[in-house]
Amino acid sequence: EPRTLGQGLVPLVNRLQDIFASAGLRGSKAVDLPCIAVVGSQSSGKSSVLEALVGRDFLPRGPDICTRRPLLLQLVHTPARRGEPEEWGEFLHLPGKIYTNFEEIRAEIEAETDRTCGNKAVSNKQIRLKICSPNVLTMTLVDLPGITRVAVGDQPEDIEIQIRNMILSYIKRETCLILAVTPANSDLANSDALTLSKQVDPEGKRTLGVITKLDIMDRGTNAVKYLKGEVIPLKLGYVGVVNRCQADIAERRSINHARKLEADFFASKPEYADVACSCGIHALSRNVSTLLADHISTLLPDLQVRIMRERSEAERDLELLGPDVPETDSERAALVLSKLERYAQSLQAAVEGRNHS
Ligand code: GDP
Ligand code: MG
Repeated sequence: EPRTLGQGLVPLVNRLQDIFASAGLRGSKAVDLPCIAVVGSQSSGKSSVLEALVGRDFLPRGPDICTRRPLLLQLVHTPARRGEPEEWGEFLHLPGKIYTNFEEIRAEIEAETDRTCGNKAVSNKQIRLKICSPNVLTMTLVDLPGITRVAVGDQPEDIEIQIRNMILSYIKRETCLILAVTPANSDLANSDALTLSKQVDPEGKRTLGVITKLDIMDRGTNAVKYLKGEVIPLKLGYVGVVNRCQADIAERRSINHARKLEADFFASKPEYADVACSCGIHALSRNVSTLLADHISTLLPDLQVRIMRERSEAERDLELLGPDVPETDSERAALVLSKLERYAQSLQAAVEGRNHS
């Protein structure tokens, strides 16, 4: 069944992503691997959606722009094993260091962001974090800086353009699924997320709409038209979610508490009855995981061709570099001598050639 095939493929793609990142392959040498990018304006609820998908608090928060580098998040569904930590994280830049305390993960994301970005600016350089847990579905997500309109404080003047270009560099790839996050209390037609995703995916074939903050809409209004795709249609449709407000977070209400509030919200609103079964974080999680798996299955043949091509190019390069350098000094000396000799011969041939002409 393709579904299970795809599910098993996600960890394989994660491995490939790590290998490519560690080998420093970029630009034309980089092979695009499938992932899901979370896009939206600042404070639209992107971090809340990501944390809800993981089921843990671990992302930096604050009044400022917190996400200043792309965070590549590999969620790996790992069955609980006795005697081992249930849930843990590991950064690619700190291999072997296992984090079981999610507060420490947050601190390391902040510290690593500052290491590259300094104070306020944004950077394209990814932070890569793997989270293994029995409570996540296997998927790869990228958290991107939120779209801003004006530079504040000592941010560079062109911060808006920098952030847009960074987002576009991810979502322009056919291999990228887009989670376009828009808060329900703003006009969907003005959504930054959907405006950007339309630029690269005009038919909405790889864009899933996420409507956040259903709980704080103007009284007497609801988001049913948005969710049914009657305002801006998307092939993959929309999922509505309710996450914690700032007060819940300040009071350290748990994510489970948020899930209960979300369930209560949909149960108590008859106007959402039609769409309720495709709403909520659990529906989003299943939806995203299936989409990614299907997406990878479709991309796989092409991915294989590209990897084989990279491989044969690398093999040709290796051949051009010649045989391995020998172990011992005397063998190395002999190799250098023979190379010098060949060089001298070719030089001599060239000089003679000129004398003859
Ligand atoms: P980001 O900047 O897009 O990453 O947005 P955050 O996830 O940090 O959320 C911005 C603010 O909106 C925070 O104070 C959240 O607590 C709040 N928030 C996010 N989602 C919801 C929601 O569904 N309902 C309510 N009431 N508040 C939310
Ligand atoms: Mg954020």
